[in-house]
Amino acid sequence: MSSQKELLDALLDDVAARPNTIVVFDLDDTLFSTADRHLRILGEFAARLETLDARAAGILRGITRENLRYAIADTAKAHGLDDRLAKDLRDFWFARFFKNPYLLEDTIIPGGPAYAAEVIKRGGRAFYMTGRDEGMREGTEASLLRHAFPEPDGKGATLVLKPRFDTPDFAFKNEALHKIAELGAVVGSFENEPAHVNLFVERFPKGRHFLLETKHSGKPVTPHASVLRIKDFRR
Ligand SMILES: [Mg+2]
Repeated sequence: MSSQKELLDALLDDVAARPNTIVVFDLDDTLFSTADRHLRILGEFAARLETLDARAAGILRGITRENLRYAIADTAKAHGLDDRLAKDLRDFWFARFFKNPYLLEDTIIPGGPAYAAEVIKRGGRAFYMTGRDEGMREGTEASLLRHAFPEPDGKGATLVLKPRFDTPDFAFKNEALHKIAELGAVVGSFENEPAHVNLFVERFPKGRHFLLETKHSGKPVTPHASVLRIKDFRR
C-alpha cells in the first residue's frame, strides 16, 4: 500500500504533467477542522445556561475536541443531556455555526496550505469548492488568508460558494462540477464526505480522489474502491 506521501506526490506529478489542470478542495473537515468552531458555540451556550442549569452547563464546558460528534445534538445526548436541551443547543448552534465571525475559530488540517500552494507552483489551479454559501464569503476569505492558504484571486486559486444557503451541498457540487470541468482538466479532489468523493470519482474517473479521514455526516455511503484515504496533507 502506498504511503500518504506517495499518494499526495502522485497527484502533484499529474498536475505538472499537462497544462490547465485543476484540483478541487472541500473546506469543512477537509482543509479546515471545524472542532474549535463547535467548542466556541458550546462555550457560549454553556454561559447562557449557567444560572438555569449549572450541572448541564458544566457538562457542556467539559466537552473536548475528541468527543465531539458530527451533529451537535448528538454530542449533547452522548454526554447524558436530555432531548429538550439538545434541541435548544441545536437551534443555538444553527444560528451561529454558519456566521462569518465563527469561521475564524477554525484550525487547519495539517499540511493543507502548503499542499494547495504546491498545486499552483506545479502549474495547476486550486478550486475551493464548499457547501458554505455566499453569505459566508467574507469569513471564508479571511480564514483562508489567516492560515496562509493561496489567496482565492481567481487565478491560482478560486473560491466557489453556494449561491443559496438552502441548496443541498450534494446538488450544488454536482452542478458546480459541470462548470469547473469546462475550465480545465480536473485531475484530483479532496473531500471528507463519502457521497461527495464518489461524485468526483464518477465525474472524473481518471483522477485521483481523496477522502480525508476526519469526520463526516454519517450517511451510509461506501466510498468507491478507487478512493484514496489520507489523514491530512503532510508529505
Ligand atoms: Mg466537508
